[in-house]
This record gives sequence, C-alpha cells and structure tokens, in this order.
Amino acid sequence: MPIKSRIRTIPHYPHEGIMFRDVTTLLKDAVGLRTTIQEIVNRYRTSNIDIVVGIESRGFIIGAPVAYALGVGFVPIRKPGKLPAETIGCDYQLEYGSDRIEIHTDAIRKGERILLVDDLIATGGTMEAAVKLIQEIGGEIIECCFVVDLPEVGGRDRLEKQGQKVFALCQFE
Ligand code: AMP
Repeated sequence: MPIKSRIRTIPHYPHEGIMFRDVTTLLKDAVGLRTTIQEIVNRYRTSNIDIVVGIESRGFIIGAPVAYALGVGFVPIRKPGKLPAETIGCDYQLEYGSDRIEIHTDAIRKGERILLVDDLIATGGTMEAAVKLIQEIGGEIIECCFVVDLPEVGGRDRLEKQGQKVFALCQFE
C-alpha cells in the first residue's frame, strides 16, 4: 500500500474526535507523490478529459500535476474573494457553520469534460458544492477523484445518489 501507508493520522485535529488524515507525509515522499499522481493519470489517460478542476488548497497540489501529465489545463476552485475576475459561488454547510467556494465564470466552456480533484472526501459537502458550480457553467463532470475516501462519513454515497461517479485511491475507516 504505497499510498495509504504514507498518510499520517493526527487524532483530535482540528476538533476533538476527528481523525485527521494528513497527506503532507505522502506528498513529501518521492515515491508516494509519484505513485499518487501516476495512479490518477493512468485512470484518466483515455477519458478525453479537457480540464482538471482542483479545490483549494490540497486539490491544487494533486490536480495541477495530474493536468500537466494528462496534457490538459488546470482550473482552481477557491475560497471566497480570492479570484480576480467574474465568479459564481456556492455556499455549503460544514459541521460547524458554513463555507463558500467560487470559480471564474469563464474558466470552463459549455460541454467541456471535467475531472474534479480534491485530497479527501468526508461528508461530500465541499465536492457537492464544486459539482454545482461546474454544472452551473455547463461543464460535463466525468468523475470526482480523491486520494482518500472516508466511507463511513457518507460523502461518496451522497455524491453517487446525485448521479456523480466517485473514485478514491484509498479508504480509511
Ligand atoms: P467534506 O466537505 O466533509 O467532504 O470535507 C472535505 C474537505 O475537508 C477536504 O478538502 C479535506 O481536505 C477536509 N477534511 C475533512 N475531513 C478530513 C479529515 N478527517 N482529514 C483530513 N482532511 C479532512
């Protein structure tokens, strides 16, 4: 398990009871980083992806090298107020409070085939908001791709019920 074994777990971060799956230990490891990117690239090599969209901030670290290797462009979805041109945004609920993500309205052309990337899916709230943004500007989502899935939290089921395809390189209980 070259990927899962390189992910560090920090108990009770950032809140009591949360097992934080820390991918920095995977990313700093040359074999870990290369294997992670290559496994994702191999999966989508023949999927005719037009654009890889990564979610701030760890989705940028994974998404940009995947886009480079696939020979396509990269588009960031960012926290509010960070993108300089015209944006659309989507608010979503967190365990404590709410958050918002935004994308440039001209980042994707209608019908472009999109691969959505983030490091980890827990409740799926973040990726659900990202899906809404892509759909609003007319992109066709091919799959939502993660390094880590926490299946017991239910995010994958939530996205699949909405008709999205979900892929993760590894799972933690
Ligand atoms: P969610 O919207 O609940 O699917 O949460 C996904 C986002 O929160 C991802 O961008 C993760 O980086 C972060 N996240 C949520 N839970 C964890 C966890 N247990 N360990 C590490 N990151 C997490």
